[in-house]
Amino acid sequence: MSDLTRLTAAELAATIAAGDVSAVEVAQAHLDRIAAVDERVHAFLHVDTEGALAAARDVDAKRAAGEALGPLAGVPVAVKDVLATKGVPTTAASKILEGWRPPYDATIVERLRAAGTVMLGKTNMDEFAMGSSTEYSAYGATNNPWDLGRIPGGSGGGSAAAIAAYEAPLAIGTDTGGSIRQPGAVTGTVGAKPTYGGTSRYGLIAFSSSLDTPGPCARNVQDAALLHSVIAGHDPRDSTSIPQAVPDVVAAARQGASGDLTGVKIGLVTEFNGEGAEAGVTAAFRDAVEALTKLGAEVVEISCPHFQYALPAYYLIAPSEASSNLARFDGVRFGLRTGDDGKHSLEEVMSLTREAGFGPEVKRRIILGTYALSSGYYDAYYGQAQKVRTLITRDFTSAFEQVDVLVSPTTPFVAFPFGSRMDDPYQMYLADLYTIPTNLYGGPAISVPCGLSEGLPVGLQIMAPTMADDRMYRVAAALESTVGVLTPPAL
Ligand code: GLN
Repeated sequence: MSDLTRLTAAELAATIAAGDVSAVEVAQAHLDRIAAVDERVHAFLHVDTEGALAAARDVDAKRAAGEALGPLAGVPVAVKDVLATKGVPTTAASKILEGWRPPYDATIVERLRAAGTVMLGKTNMDEFAMGSSTEYSAYGATNNPWDLGRIPGGSGGGSAAAIAAYEAPLAIGTDTGGSIRQPGAVTGTVGAKPTYGGTSRYGLIAFSSSLDTPGPCARNVQDAALLHSVIAGHDPRDSTSIPQAVPDVVAAARQGASGDLTGVKIGLVTEFNGEGAEAGVTAAFRDAVEALTKLGAEVVEISCPHFQYALPAYYLIAPSEASSNLARFDGVRFGLRTGDDGKHSLEEVMSLTREAGFGPEVKRRIILGTYALSSGYYDAYYGQAQKVRTLITRDFTSAFEQVDVLVSPTTPFVAFPFGSRMDDPYQMYLADLYTIPTNLYGGPAISVPCGLSEGLPVGLQIMAPTMADDRMYRVAAALESTVGVLTPPAL
């Protein structure tokens, strides 16, 4: 039974559809795996055993009745705890939302349910998706299945660790500055940030609304594409959702898996070609680029001169938007309320609640963002950062006139030990040095395993033009066809 947790999502869907195994058996195998390993991994904040088994029974009943099943029917999925799930606890890993059960499902969750997937539970993350290690979760960090003493990346470390530890074949993440790709890279899994507006933000607890993008996490490229195709597409309830057809990412992944990249032009970002990265990361990345060349791709160097300003621009724009978005957590509308004893004024209750409910990194960002948006400083900080954002977008536009995709390492370093970057916020922010430009531009990008450095996974990032998500899947699948899928040591 336990080997069901080793199958890919595509294989699981096929065996369930063929009637070789029931959706309930598949769900139970994953729940058993969670029971066996999650005490050590801590990928989940909440496991919805009853909900998962009920959803699985539903799939089995539909199959028995001869009803058509969706492409992922019966396949378990773990959902980052930043997406609203009806009746199921949703905390964004913050004390301020402890005990909140949303009255509605996020669009992504609605689509997952409609496709017949089985939601196992909610995964751990940095509080309000601010961080790169899950160490900022108010409920304790997640441990990397490759080495339990190291971080699984962040903010979506729980989603990445859950699939790396075979607790789920698929997971949902959200990427504001790298929170799907960076955890993917350091856990040896695949993580894709779709085009901004390609996946709905409705029911996603907002961090930085102009950047937040939900997307798929999986152990291989084909599974990521399948999940992408299920969750993506226009949503009238999200005003920034793109009213266009989703590119055929599944077909693109299939095409790439043949290992032929003849005619594909790949740009190597000069500024991100090893500078500031660990030697082992650079070596694995260069080998992977060599492999892409062998598959027929033409590789050229492309300079993107403004990418070096992406990190500072992001750390003005994201906290600015966060300071506004997080104003809604006032002790009145959701979750925690502190000091409501008849002796404190409304303002004092709000202040005491926010003092008790937010962790240190969230407070840092609210203060930073409030400062950057204040009247005397708006032009100097926020306004300036928006101009940099335009320049970065122009770098992308001109690069994509010359090449089909851009590549870089996903992260400058492999999974680091707990505590090693907690004292200096800037050291933590550096984890997203290579992923942030894409968020500022709005295009899609994927991280795919490209090898090991000192026994730990390294990811390669493929960036594509907006609404050309299929291109990155083609190149990712081609790379996977030579590098293979990484398997962590047994837990
Ligand atoms: N690590 C980045 C941050 O802390 C990105 C987070 C994210 O993508 N949600 O903001």
